[in-house]
Amino acid sequence: MRAMVMHSPGEPLRFEDLPRPEPQPGQLLLRVRACAVCRTDLHIFDGELDRPKLPLVLGHQIVGETEDGRRVGVPWLAWTDGDCRYCRSGRENLCDSARFTGYDVDGGYAEWVVADERFCFPIPEGYDDVAATPLLCAGLIGYRSLRLAGAAERLGLYGFGASAHLVAQVALWEGRRVFAFVRPGDQAGAAFARELGVEWAGPSDELPPEELDAAIIFAPVGPLVPQALRATAKGGVVVCAGIHMSDIPAFPYELLWGERVVRSVANLTRRDGEEFLAAAPRVPVRTQVETFPLEQANEALAKLRSGDLRGSAVLVP
Ligand SMILES: [Zn+2]
Ligand SMILES: [Zn+2]
Repeated sequence: MRAMVMHSPGEPLRFEDLPRPEPQPGQLLLRVRACAVCRTDLHIFDGELDRPKLPLVLGHQIVGETEDGRRVGVPWLAWTDGDCRYCRSGRENLCDSARFTGYDVDGGYAEWVVADERFCFPIPEGYDDVAATPLLCAGLIGYRSLRLAGAAERLGLYGFGASAHLVAQVALWEGRRVFAFVRPGDQAGAAFARELGVEWAGPSDELPPEELDAAIIFAPVGPLVPQALRATAKGGVVVCAGIHMSDIPAFPYELLWGERVVRSVANLTRRDGEEFLAAAPRVPVRTQVETFPLEQANEALAKLRSGDLRGSAVLVP
């Protein structure tokens, strides 16, 4: 099968011919219909997540088709032991021995993939293969971040990309007021957010017109943490949604005082996936995508890096 293969961090992915993977008991063999590119892929590619299997096929937002014609989604969480302290308390996202798709096991930048059936999701009706792919991480981990933001009425989203544009739709549907923060100077990003119906869109180094009850930071930029705290009301929460972030600068305790909370979001549970994929068609969450042929995975990663995408890049084998 054709695949884009990572041999070492920072080196362009190579277009190669690999043997088709053999499903083990409990695994599905899937023909990859489409696979969206996630910022995590870029962190792995750059060596910021330091223990990938090598060589590696990236990609963990996969829509695949089984041999009997069912469409299933393969997310980041590939496998857990089911038995550790975290798994036994409903927190399999924190499992000590978890394996991740496109990191510990090969992912979807290929024509075929195998996946543990227990960790796959059915794809909701009303989404074609390409449109469904960003739901599987950008949507799903965004949804978990939104849940961890609590019942916040005034919600700030820092970094208005693949994940935020999906979370904004769910938050607006839930009746929240949404404030979008983009890179200073990114007029197109602010316009994109306003088109989706957010109440205010502006640069991330500005304060919003009102205090926020919660903020979610999608951009991997540590200095946004004190910035978001500064914009957040007493008792508010700042959720860091990415798997990697640059260092957070020191900040005065006063920004945290007043029972403000800073927390991260790690991975997903299968329950997050079931809840989000049930909610998505009801909103309905519309994904914005730009497609690339599989062999242009390097170009897709470069476009994500430069902030040149509206929504998600999706590879189609
Ligand atoms: Zn576990
Ligand atoms: Zn992801």
